[in-house]
Amino acid sequence: MLLGCIADDFTGATDLANMLVGGGMRCIQTIGVPQGPAPDADAVVVALKSRTIAPQDAVAQSLAALAWLKTNGCRQLYFKYCSTFDSTPRGNIGPVIDALMQVLGTSFTIACPAFPENGRTIFRGYLYVGDVLLSESGMKDHPLTPMKDANLVRVLQAQTRHKVGLARYDTVASGTAALRERFAALQHDGCGIAVVDAVSNADLDTIGAACADMPLVTAGSGVALGLPANFRQAGQLAHAGEAARLPRIDGYAGIVSGSCSVATNAQVAEWKKTRPAFRIDVRSLAAGEAQVQAALDWARARIAREPVLVYATSSPEEVKAVQAELGAEHAGRIVEQALAALAQGMVELGARKLIVAGGETAGAVVNRLGIKVLRIGPQIDPGVPWTLSAGEPAIALALKSGNFGATDFFAKALEMLK
Ligand code: ADP
Repeated sequence: MLLGCIADDFTGATDLANMLVGGGMRCIQTIGVPQGPAPDADAVVVALKSRTIAPQDAVAQSLAALAWLKTNGCRQLYFKYCSTFDSTPRGNIGPVIDALMQVLGTSFTIACPAFPENGRTIFRGYLYVGDVLLSESGMKDHPLTPMKDANLVRVLQAQTRHKVGLARYDTVASGTAALRERFAALQHDGCGIAVVDAVSNADLDTIGAACADMPLVTAGSGVALGLPANFRQAGQLAHAGEAARLPRIDGYAGIVSGSCSVATNAQVAEWKKTRPAFRIDVRSLAAGEAQVQAALDWARARIAREPVLVYATSSPEEVKAVQAELGAEHAGRIVEQALAALAQGMVELGARKLIVAGGETAGAVVNRLGIKVLRIGPQIDPGVPWTLSAGEPAIALALKSGNFGATDFFAKALEMLK
């Protein structure tokens, strides 16, 4: 294992893993901290759910992940957080960085959530989301981590014991050597963490190269663009070109969709034009009617002939109406559980290719199937790769959160496995 990664949420972990595979690293994602030896891979991403839990719990989980990664020989550690730096003055980004630095025995690291291709850029320490400052974006009203200050030096300084400095864009634009000099100067001034400006993929390459010798890198998924080149230059990365290869999977195909995002609504509508689909009625489900059994009977009659879609996906108005009747949390939970049971039912019918739409829905499905380890395969659409579960039976899984994927995502994803 060359690179060990700790991600503070599940879909963020997949995003990072997808990026590393794109850079030629064979990559595994684990759900939670595994036990035993690591599977054969160049990079392993441990997916935690630590973004908004109590800081001491986030630190404990992150250190457990670090201990496992170190035991399995990782040479560099990457702490992945959200590209909008989701956190509060209590944490969890700062406290986790502090703890990782202490255990790794390192006195300096970077902090860089930039992801220019997704509109996240940093200039003079200020984080932009598209054309507006973070503090003017939708993130200012986030229910759990409202981001009301776009200045990352200030935001991070409130969370960490280390002095936070800034490596400005002018320096990054001057190249790797200049950036390394800046890091040395900041360290000389007593800084432990440097927020680094980045507005383009070229900047991420420069930053990646400048971090080659750092025991710890902390960032969004963007900086991962620049890291594989370091290992390649050191002659450590032998598998370039085949990093995304997965063994061929035979079996039926099923799709379950619990996302109600704009993109998923369009994807379900597109599929339904020409292919079989079964709609879960949430009110009937809540009333205890045998919706799961009805959907499974429907799927059993078709799945051997063609891929089937079962969905709870609805328009925003329908979702609001159902939530008003049942409560948002209750509605969400019963739908997630029903779709997870359906995914399991499809696997029992012989499905070995599963597409799941919805971040929470994907979490529920993976839990129900008892999946702990995923090998990351080729990208379907930006941010969403095919993955293959470890264990028996091996299942190809495409876990698509919210607004990801083009309108023809479902058909396109299945086409790739032919
Ligand atoms: P996304 O990635 O788009 O946010 P998630 O799966 O994370 O999708 O979240 C969608 C939530 O909405 C889930 O909790 C799901 O169970 C719930 N849900 C799905 N369909 C409906 C519906 N028709 N009415 C109410 N809630 C629904």
